[in-house]
Amino acid sequence: MNTVLNKPRILTGDTPTGKLHLGHWVGSVENRVKLQDRYDCYFIIANIQAFTTRAERPEEMRDNVMQVAMDYLASGIDPKRSTIFVQSEIPAIAELTQFLSMLVPFPRIMRNPTIKDEIRDKGLGDNYPIGFLMYPVSNTADILTFRPELVPVGEDQLPHLELARETARKFNQLYCAVDPQTKDEDYIKAGGLFPIIQPLLGRVKRLVGTGAPGKNGQLLKMSKSLNNAIFLSDDSDIIRKKVMEMYTDPKRIHKTDPGCVENNPLWIFHETFNPDQDWVKEAEAHYRKGQIGDVECKKKLVDVLVALIEPIRQRRLVFEKDPAQVIKILKEGTERANAIAEETLILAKRAMQQDYFGKRQVKYNK
Ligand code: ATP
Ligand code: MG
Repeated sequence: MNTVLNKPRILTGDTPTGKLHLGHWVGSVENRVKLQDRYDCYFIIANIQAFTTRAERPEEMRDNVMQVAMDYLASGIDPKRSTIFVQSEIPAIAELTQFLSMLVPFPRIMRNPTIKDEIRDKGLGDNYPIGFLMYPVSNTADILTFRPELVPVGEDQLPHLELARETARKFNQLYCAVDPQTKDEDYIKAGGLFPIIQPLLGRVKRLVGTGAPGKNGQLLKMSKSLNNAIFLSDDSDIIRKKVMEMYTDPKRIHKTDPGCVENNPLWIFHETFNPDQDWVKEAEAHYRKGQIGDVECKKKLVDVLVALIEPIRQRRLVFEKDPAQVIKILKEGTERANAIAEETLILAKRAMQQDYFGKRQVKYNK
C-alpha cells in the first residue's frame, strides 16, 4: 500500500456517451495502460457529464458506464494497480464543483473553443442546459479532487485543462496564501492545496473519424457522438464495413487523377496504426500517382485494425459474460476514490475557512 501512496497520481477519464473507440486508444488509453506501473492511476467514468447532452436517456447512460468500464478492462487497465470509479458516486466532486464555480468567470466558459466546437458539431444550437456550460467546471473539480500530477488526454481537452490550471492557481492564491509570482511547479511547496497539473497528450492528438469533413471543410474528430467511430469492441465484419465505407479523397479517379494523401482518413489511419510504415510510405507514393486503388489500401487497413482490436474484443467478451465482476471492480474503485476525494474536500474547506465542526483530522499523504 505504501508503494502506491508514494507514486505520483494520474487522473483522467471518459464520458459514458458510448463505447470507446480508436480515438480514445491513441489519444489517451494507450498511455494510461503504459503508465500504470509508474503512477497511481485514477480513471473516472464521468456519467454526470454525459447528462449534459442526453438527460432524457438515463438507461442508455447506465449501460454506457458498464460499456466504458469493460472497454477499460479489455484495453489492459488493471484494477489491481489502477482505480476505476463512477463520478456520480463521489459526492465530494459535486461539492467542489460548486465552490470552484465561484472562481470561474462565465465569459471564460463561453470563449472555450472545445465548448464552441461541441455546440457546433453536436448541433446543440441554443438549446443546451446550464449544466452543459457547467461541465468544464465539473471537469476541473474531477481533476483537482485527486490532486494529480499528470492528466493524459486528447487535444480537445487542453482548453479544459487550462481552466483547471487557472482555477488551481486562483484557489491556491486566494485560500492558501500562495504568492502569484510562484512558478507552477512550486505551488505545493509554497503551501498550495492543488498542483498545477500537466497534460500528457497521446501520440495522436486528435484522430479523425471515418466520415466526410464538417461544415467548415475540416475532418471531424472521431467521436462517440458523431457516428464516425471504429470501436474497440467492433468485430472484423463491422471493421471491414466501416473501412470500406470510409471517406477518402472524393476528387480522385483511379488511374487518371492523382490521389491526395493529406487530409485523407485512409492514410491518416495507415500512418497511425500500420506497424509496416515502409509499406505505407511506398503505397502513399503510388497513391499520389494514381497507381494503387482505394480498395486495395482499405483491405490492408482492415487487416491492420483487426489485428489491433481483436485481442481487446476477445478480452472484453469475458467481462461481458460477467457483469457482476465489473460492478464489483467499480464499487471497490469508487471506495478508494472516495477516500481521497473526502480528504481533498476537507482540506479545501479548511483552506476556505468553512470547516466549522473540525471533527476529522486529515493530513496530506505527501
Ligand atoms: P463525446 O462525443 O461524447 O464528447 P468523445 O468521443 O469526444 O465523446 P470523451 O469522453 O469526450 O470522448 O473523451 C475522452 C478522452 O478521449 C479525452 O481525453 C479526449 O481528448 C480523448 N479523445 C476522444 N476522442 C479522441 C480523438 N478522436 N482523438 C484523440 N483523443 C480523443
Ligand atoms: Mg468529448
